[in-house]
Amino acid sequence: MSEERSRNFIENEIDKDLKEGVYDTVHTRFPPEPNGYLHIGHAKSILLNYGLAKEYGGKFNLRFDDTNPTKEKSEFVESIKEDVRWLGADFEDRLFFASDYFDRMYEAAVTLIKKGLAYVSELTADEIREYRGTLTEPGKNDPMRDRGIEENLDLFERMRAGDFADGERTLRAKIDMASPNINMRDPIIYRVAHLSHQNTGDKWCIYPMYDFAHPLEDAFEGITHSICTLEFEDHRPLYNWVVENVGFEMPPRQIEFAKLYLNNVVTGKRYIKKLVEEGTVDGWDDPRLVSIAGLRRRGYTPDSLRRFVELSGVSKANSTAEMPMLEYCIREDLKFKDKRIMAILDPIKLVIDNYPDGQIEMVKGTNNPDNPELGDREIPFGKELYIEREDFMEEPPKKYFRLFPGNEVRLMNAYFVRCTDFEKDAGGKVTVVHCTYDPETKQGTDKEMPRKVKGTIHWVLAEKAVRFTARLYDNIVDEEKGVYDEEGNVNVNPDSLITMTECYAEPELSGAKAYDSFQFVRNGFFCVDPKDSKEGAIVMNRVVSLKSSFRLPTDAAGAR
Ligand code: ATP
Ligand code: MG
Repeated sequence: MSEERSRNFIENEIDKDLKEGVYDTVHTRFPPEPNGYLHIGHAKSILLNYGLAKEYGGKFNLRFDDTNPTKEKSEFVESIKEDVRWLGADFEDRLFFASDYFDRMYEAAVTLIKKGLAYVSELTADEIREYRGTLTEPGKNDPMRDRGIEENLDLFERMRAGDFADGERTLRAKIDMASPNINMRDPIIYRVAHLSHQNTGDKWCIYPMYDFAHPLEDAFEGITHSICTLEFEDHRPLYNWVVENVGFEMPPRQIEFAKLYLNNVVTGKRYIKKLVEEGTVDGWDDPRLVSIAGLRRRGYTPDSLRRFVELSGVSKANSTAEMPMLEYCIREDLKFKDKRIMAILDPIKLVIDNYPDGQIEMVKGTNNPDNPELGDREIPFGKELYIEREDFMEEPPKKYFRLFPGNEVRLMNAYFVRCTDFEKDAGGKVTVVHCTYDPETKQGTDKEMPRKVKGTIHWVLAEKAVRFTARLYDNIVDEEKGVYDEEGNVNVNPDSLITMTECYAEPELSGAKAYDSFQFVRNGFFCVDPKDSKEGAIVMNRVVSLKSSFRLPTDAAGAR
């Protein structure tokens, strides 16, 4: 975005690396595990990594970290690709899969064995845990730690050949069982697991562990700056040990930053998964979720997410961002891009008794007062209109300037009307409001208005209106109770979705396609639902309402 901002700490580190000649280029990556849909936190990581590659004229890889054969699904691979592409992070000729490196990872393990830096262990998982020691006590050496190199090579080969059952043997790095960093106490780098892999099938029955595989993936691809989140800080010494000892000319460097957290919002993959599986939400792309697919379906734009990520900053310190800031970003974006049209969500009929029967005239509307480039439009006007139910009151309170018996208001873009009467049904519900109009008060003419009115209301011509369904969303989380209950379930807000089935918009809405968005006067920004909207039966999701208490802090651009 155009705001001036100070450089973040990662840029400072990169500048230093380039100046000192540690690297002569910048190559970043986004390495998702294909075990779920991406969420707003991942968007931060994607945009950060992609942005750095762009900024320094370097490269960006999308790499699926698919080393774990049990949890991963191709559905997730496809959705992640779509999301990354949508965010504008171009990876088309730089798409990689960690599983394509299994042969090279195996070779890297052999290299370590040959250097006397890895050995085959016979301890069970429980024993390994027991031998590991604690934060205050050093670990104990594995009885097989000093096995000869030839024997290790042979056993590792046999692990690969399938001679052992799951858990019977592991390959461990030989580092330091007394290290104060538990990650360095001879971590397991390969395990036996007789599992089919979605990419390599049954070729392998041993799989590399994350802490061994990840630095290798980065190194194989020539990544310079491996940017990850803070929980990996303690793993950095192991990361460095792997790339140094396997022996790479220009090993990558890991830099950690704080995860993006949103206050009162469900982001964790496993929680979202549960909401999806229990049917509380309509899939991973439910517009109430902050999955990237959900935000897209709700009507968020890549620009708005970029702005949000920019405003949230890059830092080493954990902090939480607020949902109103995200809403601010989409409002600011759509404010200029969308046409502002009239739509009625909760209609009552307004009949202009002195308007000629059957006559329709066109009045002029400005498409977006903040963006003259969007031009003007003609809106049909006539005798029978729809207005919002809340714009009429039989007995108005003080300071109510809209329609009530005897009062005069302006119909936006059209005429002044004065309320003369109304009808009710048997249940006492108002069904029709009657009024008369003053032909001398047409808007958009140069004529001086004969008098002033205090209220302006929006309307649509009944005969030409496009009927649609509107979905109004609120946080899926019951904010009063907090995100999770004691059992770790999400406290679900029962009113997080309100569906209005009899809504009417100006003819401008007809032909609206998936993801088209509009500002509906007074009602907020709405976007055509890509899943449920059909020709002739449009479904609009409210992206965000118009009002907000959020104010951008004056120093936001520089605060990081
Ligand atoms: P989750 O915690 O939601 O399950 P994850 O970390 O397991 O996410 P991965 O697929 O492993 O998901 O993450 C891919 C990348 O996205 C990693 O580099 C990770 O650090 C980064 N990432 C994940 N969550 C966030 C977040 N909230 N903010 C910033 N980056 C994140
Ligand atoms: Mg993860």
